Amino acid sequence: MDKMKLKIPFEEIKTAVEQASYGHHYLIDRKNHQIVFINEIENDYEKKLAEVESDDFIDFELGVPDDDFLIMESFIYGIQEENFELAEKFHVVLEQKKPFKHFKELIGKHPELEEKWFKHKDKELTNETMNWLCINNIELEDESFMPKIEIRELNAKEVKLPEEFECFGPVECMNCKNNAGFKIRYFELSISNENMLIDKEIKRLMTEKYGIKDYGTIAGGDKEILTSSKCPKCDSSEIFEDF
Ligand SMILES: [Zn+2]
Repeated sequence: MDKMKLKIPFEEIKTAVEQASYGHHYLIDRKNHQIVFINEIENDYEKKLAEVESDDFIDFELGVPDDDFLIMESFIYGIQEENFELAEKFHVVLEQKKPFKHFKELIGKHPELEEKWFKHKDKELTNETMNWLCINNIELEDESFMPKIEIRELNAKEVKLPEEFECFGPVECMNCKNNAGFKIRYFELSISNENMLIDKEIKRLMTEKYGIKDYGTIAGGDKEILTSSKCPKCDSSEIFEDF
């Protein structure tokens, strides 16, 4: 689909992503730059739905309970490291009948987690919304929702890889099969790459600022690191990396 630029605030898109569900239709009206909501409890909803069946309208995918389930699961993984026993309690709750209700009750018993939970949910929803914009090739006129991304090249002394990546590096040039003398560059990301729009922006910055199109990502440290290797023989940057 063609790229389009809309004058709709990010928060409104985010609400539509969150609330679109069975019986609750949200659509983007491309011409008038607004969001249309059609509720199936209205008498004339079928007529309204027929009216928006054109290329001028983009449907929001209907949310399914599975989405919420995944958000709860990723939240539990987040608390696992700090409090294994508590995480186990949450795991048990998700396996019971009415997992949503029980999850909420358990959160209610741990007020210290409540804020963390809301933040987590909001972050997941933001990522989902940004992915949705990327997939539908939509740009928003007000881009203030986009976090500022800084990429900084590290010198050899600054590079601190997570332990499990200490032996990770270039092994073989995919172009000429050379396997020695690679030059590696490391870059540090100011924010983590957690959705498709951020990923796209990182790609753009790497190309624009450093002329690098091929790079790998090392996550697990304080900050995510990008690595790029070059073959000394043929100058290719398509290098196979391994431990
Ligand atoms: Zn080569």
